[in-house]
Amino acid sequence: MQRKGKGVLHRGTALLVVLLFVAVGLVAGPRLIAIAEEQQEGAVQPSARTGETDAIAGEEQKETCEQGLKVLVLNYHKIENNNHSLSVPPWDFETQMKYLSDHGYTSISPDELYTALAGAGKLPDNPVLITFDDGYRDNYDNAFPILKKYKLKATIFVITSFLGKKEQYLTWEQAREMEKHGISIQSHTVDHKPMTDLSDEQLRMELVESKKKAEAELGHEVGYIAYPTGTYNLHIAEMVKEAGYKGAFTIKYGNVDEATNIYAIERVPIFHTENTNKDFLERIHYLPLFAKFGWQKN
Ligand SMILES: [Zn+2]
Repeated sequence: MQRKGKGVLHRGTALLVVLLFVAVGLVAGPRLIAIAEEQQEGAVQPSARTGETDAIAGEEQKETCEQGLKVLVLNYHKIENNNHSLSVPPWDFETQMKYLSDHGYTSISPDELYTALAGAGKLPDNPVLITFDDGYRDNYDNAFPILKKYKLKATIFVITSFLGKKEQYLTWEQAREMEKHGISIQSHTVDHKPMTDLSDEQLRMELVESKKKAEAELGHEVGYIAYPTGTYNLHIAEMVKEAGYKGAFTIKYGNVDEATNIYAIERVPIFHTENTNKDFLERIHYLPLFAKFGWQKN
């Protein structure tokens, strides 16, 4: 009886040990797999760090693209020989466009940016959206031939009541001609008043009437606007959306990425400075670096 009893106890112990192993296996198994995956992810990190070193050497563009949506949106005003910060000399502008062309950038339209931000389309490597504010005549005389030469798309935000009326500004005929060659014409309101100074009624007029006028002159939907003087707030952005625009551009300095609000699109302004082209390179290269080193949008 005792022996039998002991035998039963042994079998019982053996079963318990087996059950314990199974239980430990069930609990620890997934954890071990998780640890193995973490180690694999960890193994990727050093190469990402190497990427940062490459970036310092000025080669970060392709790297940045692989990490997610990242779009450079340049903002120009005048392209002419005038000693003013908003007037980039044509020779410098050509140097900058040649740089983009030689370094694998691909120019895109606002619609391509919109589609990508909506998660519905893929952008080419190193996408750049070249924009001009106000609609100056020198955009046609000086920038347009250079954009054509390098086969670059661009976007001009025009002040609709100034076109064909003021000598310094484009005519609608010039706007239509440029649209045949990859230049997209969009709204910069009717008369360029800072939007934060306007009543709701005035705001609505600026938004709706500029859209209508440009659409009538150009024969297609005008879906984008640049805030005059860059001033906007949440209420204004809501009214822009209500007026039927798909997106709005600010002068907030930054690159466009997944965190970008379509009604507050960042841009990188390019100015005429003491060393315009050096500053251009710094502006287009250093910003992705700030983002890599933890720079956050606010
Ligand atoms: Zn403006």
